[in-house]
Amino acid sequence: MASGNAVPRAQLHIRAKGNTKCKDHSENDVIFLCQNCKTLICPTCSISIHKSHIDSFVEISKIETENKNAIQFFLNETDNVNIPKLNQEIISSRTKMSSYKPLYNNLRKKIIYNNNQCKLELDKITDVYIKFCDKMEVAAMDLIQTHITNLEERLDTLKQLSSEYKQTLQTGNAVLVYDSVSEIREMDPDIPPTPNIDMAEFTPGMARLSHLKQAIGNLKSPTDHLQTELATGGHSDQCPVVRPKQSTETGQASTGEVQYKLRDRPTVMSQFSYPDNIRWICPTSDGRAWLCDCRHLHTKARQQPRSGHTDDTTPQ
Ligand SMILES: [Zn+2]
Ligand SMILES: [Zn+2]
Repeated sequence: MASGNAVPRAQLHIRAKGNTKCKDHSENDVIFLCQNCKTLICPTCSISIHKSHIDSFVEISKIETENKNAIQFFLNETDNVNIPKLNQEIISSRTKMSSYKPLYNNLRKKIIYNNNQCKLELDKITDVYIKFCDKMEVAAMDLIQTHITNLEERLDTLKQLSSEYKQTLQTGNAVLVYDSVSEIREMDPDIPPTPNIDMAEFTPGMARLSHLKQAIGNLKSPTDHLQTELATGGHSDQCPVVRPKQSTETGQASTGEVQYKLRDRPTVMSQFSYPDNIRWICPTSDGRAWLCDCRHLHTKARQQPRSGHTDDTTPQ
């Protein structure tokens, strides 16, 4: 009764609200309520299609007071309870709305703060790495420089001895010749080996996006479709913006090795007839293949049926 629901009942679609005429017999006023059908009917209705419902008929005028009371009850209920309730609900919703604003501001602040922390940490790590490179470089340069100095000293010594021994050969006495030979025998003829420099290595990180997300923190949405948006974030996790050189399709970058998994049996990617013998098939980087029959040195390129395939056995 006092439902506050404004959707009209089905029969109101047929007989306009407040229209006193019967929907089926427009010359008659409706005077009965057929309680069976919950429909207002005219005398013609009462002796035709509603005839068998006669026990449920009520004169409309007889229930007017009762209906007025029902309306009055609705009005009381509406004015005293439902309207104040709705007003209260609107106010509390507005309050809620304004209370969420600072919460989201706070959330944004937290995210930005963590972004900045991540940047600082990254800068720190980078700084340490760069300083390490500097140190390694200095050490390597020192080592090579020492080697060069050593070689230069040897060169000087040899040049000096060379002219000295030439002199000795021409003018030296037997003792000097003997001493010179002793000196020569004591000399180490081997040039010291070039120092081995172990180059520092840098392996770019894989799955950078997911690690960065882990680093900055997790933002969880209570709604599924927003969560999907968050997860993709407009980027694909498998595709770093700058693909590092050592990255491989098989993801073995931690060792820096490219490993291909060979299949148990070949996969047929395309079939075609060819007039000559095929001695060689060489895949090309763009997904095609060179065919070669060596007798004629005849080659033919053939398009593979699929482009951009990721066959494990074919390095891209
Ligand atoms: Zn009627
Ligand atoms: Zn009826």
